Formats: sequence, structure tokens, C-alpha cells
Amino acid sequence: MPILARYPTHAQAIDAARALIDEGVLAAVSNAMLNRGEWLPGMNVGRPPGEFHVTVIEPTQLDLARAIIRQLAEVQPVAGAPSDNWPDPHDLDLTKLPPQNLPPCPNCGTTLPPDAALTACPSCAEPVDVVELIVTQHGPEALEPCYAAGHPSATSTGVTEPTWPTDETLASLPLTCPACRAPLIDLAPEGACPACANPYNKRAMIDRLLAAE
Ligand SMILES: [Zn+2]
Ligand SMILES: [Zn+2]
Repeated sequence: MPILARYPTHAQAIDAARALIDEGVLAAVSNAMLNRGEWLPGMNVGRPPGEFHVTVIEPTQLDLARAIIRQLAEVQPVAGAPSDNWPDPHDLDLTKLPPQNLPPCPNCGTTLPPDAALTACPSCAEPVDVVELIVTQHGPEALEPCYAAGHPSATSTGVTEPTWPTDETLASLPLTCPACRAPLIDLAPEGACPACANPYNKRAMIDRLLAAE
């Protein structure tokens, strides 16, 4: 499967894959860490851990998929962030963090509140950057639960909400029967495969594609 784009977090990769699926492009999310075995020797050198790839299942949709990803990059530019794909870390909802990951104030040792916009320690008034402290102590992946906030994604809830994708979108996607690979395009969101009579569920298929497992 051709790799279309790379993202530092699962939530961002899911956002991109969902945008593609909304346009009728069958996309999947994969975790580069888990897929490392597929790479040629030496290929993994220099790749950051926890990188998520968005791939296109149907090679004939690759050009359309590239155009959609280009558009996404144009409407969501993030200036000054650690990487092109990262949202502003000071908008993060740090209440999603495990409390033990909240950093102490480097000056007075008081545990800082889960407030990404905090600029000074509430105890000693020294300037602090809670997000930077978390990244320094636990690595950027510690912030992943915060990026997932508000995303009805596989990471945050285990399932996507039942109304997404719409039935219309599901019908347009080039999904194939999990048992016999017969095309299921234009068929109902769930039912029996017309070729082999095995049951299929298109929303469950999409959930699996986005799960990066
Ligand atoms: Zn302090
Ligand atoms: Zn079938």
C-alpha cells in the first residue's frame, strides 16, 4: 500500500484518513513502529518513533488522495510548531493526561496544574511552560492523549461514532468483501456479500483501517 502522508500522532493520522474517506478515498492508518519489520535494512534509520502513516488501499485512488492531502496541508498550516503537522501545543487539553505525568515546577517543586496555557507557576510565580516540561520529562508521545481530545477516534473511544462515515460515503468507497474480496461498492453499510454470502459491516471495516494495529 502506498504511503501517502506521515503524522506524529495517531489522532492526526486519523483526521487525515477521515478527510480522505469523506471524499470516497479508501485510506488506512498504520503505525510505523509496528510495521518496521516490513522495511528494508537501513530504511528505519532516522525515523522518529511513534510515526503514523496514512496509506491508500486502492492504488487507482492515489492521485485523488494526494490532491486531498495537499489541500488539507494548505488549510491547516501550523506556524512555529515543532513539526509541520503539530497543532499549537498550548491549545492542548492536559486534563487528559495521567496525573502522574504532570510535571513539578522546576523552581519550587509544586506539581503544576493541567493547563497548557499556563505561563507562571501558581505557587512561586516563576515562568513555566507545562507542555515543554512534559515533553522534556516524558517525550512528545506523552501528549498523545491530549491530541486525541475531541476526536471520536479509535484512540479515544474505541469506535468511531455510528453516523460517520455517512451511508452515502460508505457506498462510494471501494471496499471489498473480507472473505472473498468481491467489490462491495454501492452496497448497503452492512449485509451479506453477493458473491459468497458472508456477512460484512462497512463501518467495522473502516474502524479497523483507522486503528493502526
Ligand atoms: Zn513554582
Ligand atoms: Zn464475499
